[in-house]
Amino acid sequence: MALLTFKGGVHPPEKKELAEHKQIKILPLPEKVYIYTTNHLGAPAKIIVEPGQKVKTGQKIGEANGFISANIHSTITGEVIEIVKMTNAATGTRNDVVVIQRTGDDEWDLIPEHGDYTKKSPEEIVNIVKEAGIVGLGGAMFPSHVKMSIPKGKKAEYLIINAAECEPYITIDNRMMIEKSSEIVKGIKIIMHATGVKKAYIGIESNKPEAIEKMKEAVSGEPIEIKVLKTKYPQGAEKQLIYAITKKEVPSGGLPLDVGVIVFNVSTTYAIYEAVEHGKPLVERGITLTGEGVKNPGNFIYRIGTKVKDLLDHVGLVEEEKIDRILYGGPMMGIPLPDIELPTFKGNNALTVLTKDIVPKKESFPCIRCSKCVQVCPINLMPYLLKLQVEKREYDKAMEYGLMDCIECGSCSYACPAGIELVKTFKTGKKVARALKGRAKK
Ligand code: SF4
Ligand code: SF4
Repeated sequence: MALLTFKGGVHPPEKKELAEHKQIKILPLPEKVYIYTTNHLGAPAKIIVEPGQKVKTGQKIGEANGFISANIHSTITGEVIEIVKMTNAATGTRNDVVVIQRTGDDEWDLIPEHGDYTKKSPEEIVNIVKEAGIVGLGGAMFPSHVKMSIPKGKKAEYLIINAAECEPYITIDNRMMIEKSSEIVKGIKIIMHATGVKKAYIGIESNKPEAIEKMKEAVSGEPIEIKVLKTKYPQGAEKQLIYAITKKEVPSGGLPLDVGVIVFNVSTTYAIYEAVEHGKPLVERGITLTGEGVKNPGNFIYRIGTKVKDLLDHVGLVEEEKIDRILYGGPMMGIPLPDIELPTFKGNNALTVLTKDIVPKKESFPCIRCSKCVQVCPINLMPYLLKLQVEKREYDKAMEYGLMDCIECGSCSYACPAGIELVKTFKTGKKVARALKGRAKK
């Protein structure tokens, strides 16, 4: 049977072999954590603790401050020692960070209302997810309680679990499915109960045969189906995943719910299970520490807010002069880390250390109009034209040509034989276009 997929996309080297067979290990508790107030998409959380205050693991230290915002929690048991400003590489802004020094082993502050989900109303479940500060753990960090609150007049027909994990090198979702399949299925049933969805699909790329088998066993007898997807980047992009599974197209500027679909990542689904069944706020998550620059790559559970340097110390790095870059995430969509003293945040599913011999020095030449970038763009954009418009600062025209629809997947840059970094131009162009739009509204 033909595997499900979308139009366009690329086939970068998968590099999953570095970590895909490594069982998930729990890392030792960090001595200090640094919790951003911007650990999610939307307004920063409002800090509700002060220096000198003792906190337990899971204790709320910041409250959601707006419709799209999320609670933040202490991820260790200790004392708040200061509140500082640090750069958040994900948002490019400087934000408040609560610094906590560990004083001992975990003393948990659990969500009191947790327990058997079948005895809870949808509102009660959504409220637990909100209390737990759960956000999209695939990287988007959109607050999950907002996604689970289906607005009046809308109906979610299908739930899709995004288990594609199409980004090269990253293997944590694969391992979660192998090692935590029944818990993930319980998480899916909790989301279905809370949203009224009657049918769920789990979309997994064909390069994860063990995970496919485990999940097939775990969903037996449930209204949940495994959909095997072609291994192709960016198969896990939301619109491409929805199209591959349902053949429904989310309109430009629209949301999955506009076509009756809600999408949750595998690790997010697991976090929802942990919160609802066991009362655990989002204080830890899985991560792949990988890349040719890592001595002992693997998959780990770590406390959110641990410094990148502390995580990398557990796996060891090759000599500094061999390292080209360290990324939050994978090589296609990852964010280059300006400093390994920065902390991790809720959306961190990988740290990838690339070496100079792996990253070819790409020379850049003028566009030869070969249209490779057009062929691979999953959104059907014309990247070479879009680049010209952004460079000429013709933002209105660029938006007409779909600038804001660009999902920044980097497929065009990857495929370009002239070595043109198209996606960099679009990231900057989108920021400027958004700022100009905001100014025009004032
Ligand atoms: S234009 Fe945007 S969406 Fe299209 S391939 Fe390039 S980065 Fe991806
Ligand atoms: S792939 Fe590169 S060289 Fe070819 S049309 Fe696009 S921008 Fe130009």
